Amino acid sequence: MDLLERFSLYACLQCGKCTGGCPVSLRSPLNIRRIMREALLFGTQELLLRPELWDCTTCKACTLRCPRNLEPSELLIALRGQLVESGRVPKPVMDALEATYVHGNPWGRARQKRADWAEGLGLKRLPEGGPAQGLYFVGCAPSYDPRLQPIAVNLSRMMRAAGLDFGILGTKESCCGNEIRRMGEEGLFEELRDQNGENFRSCQVSWIVTTSPHCFNTFKNEYELEGIEVLHYTQLIERLIREGRLLPRRPLRLKVVYHDPCFLGKQNGVFDPPRAILGAIPGLQLLEFPRSREMILCCEGGGGRMWVEGSGTGTRNSEIRVQEALQLGAEVIATACPFCLLTLEDALKTTGLEGRLRIMDITEILSQSLSLEVQDGRDRVP
Ligand code: SF4
Ligand code: SF4
Repeated sequence: MDLLERFSLYACLQCGKCTGGCPVSLRSPLNIRRIMREALLFGTQELLLRPELWDCTTCKACTLRCPRNLEPSELLIALRGQLVESGRVPKPVMDALEATYVHGNPWGRARQKRADWAEGLGLKRLPEGGPAQGLYFVGCAPSYDPRLQPIAVNLSRMMRAAGLDFGILGTKESCCGNEIRRMGEEGLFEELRDQNGENFRSCQVSWIVTTSPHCFNTFKNEYELEGIEVLHYTQLIERLIREGRLLPRRPLRLKVVYHDPCFLGKQNGVFDPPRAILGAIPGLQLLEFPRSREMILCCEGGGGRMWVEGSGTGTRNSEIRVQEALQLGAEVIATACPFCLLTLEDALKTTGLEGRLRIMDITEILSQSLSLEVQDGRDRVP
């Protein structure tokens, strides 16, 4: 099926709601409405020469806003697919794809080091060390990045303190493929999906929880995991707090504003659980960005943008975001996505605002209020 038919290009009204909602269109030549038009009128050959195809963060705002239910963000991914097929992709993208194929993660880190973060925690290694009711899928970035590894440690300790029976895949875990698909490598994505899906089923778990909204999104919407509940960690932790299995008791006098990750909020409707967790912490004052929930300003970390800078000029969205947080009087921007955390922390450096604001994952904030204690290698809630 050609693109014209596959994406119903003839049905596009050219209303421009897609470009109007695009978070990168103000600083990039990317104009998704025009791409829809030109693909219809002239085909894709000329479009494939446009470097701005790599500016898209695949945030999906265009698709969610389209009054004709068209999928402009999927057309863009398909155009990237044509570039991948013909080998015409930026080198950092090619490197990330090759590294994922060889090592199971886009940074090319050694597979045997994937579970180093869990050393000494005594977590079950599935499937051999099973059975277990649940699987914690850690994800590539939190497995290897020292800035993010404490999120995986905190989350594991919280789940154990709440009495959950779970394990990790350890060195058998491979990239979820969410970003791989969005960089246009559908074939590699399918391989990862099949391999991961087989691993999940061999663990015989009834639920999977992810650190990252990106893993959560693809497991929930692009894998076929019948009989396995897929959760983002904010959904699980909110449930545990609501059931009284985690008790945030220690007051934190902090002004916190929550940044909705696109792949959690806008794309999957998970807006309330992260706010409920923060709201359960005594003393914490929860603020709201004017652009939040469905109207979130994307941090520009998705869709392969962790590897490719993009052609846009001017102030980055993440830099606008940290400025907005300061204007609100926030001391901390909380988020629930490893990519958001890294892009926003980078923005603190590039704007010179380090020391005036902190970027924290929700698990980092919550663990301070839970004051988990470790006794005999086991966590408990005091
Ligand atoms: S929002 Fe939909 S109908 Fe309107 S221009 Fe964009 S793709 Fe076309
Ligand atoms: S997915 Fe997001 S960044 Fe990409 S074209 Fe659509 S609105 Fe713009």
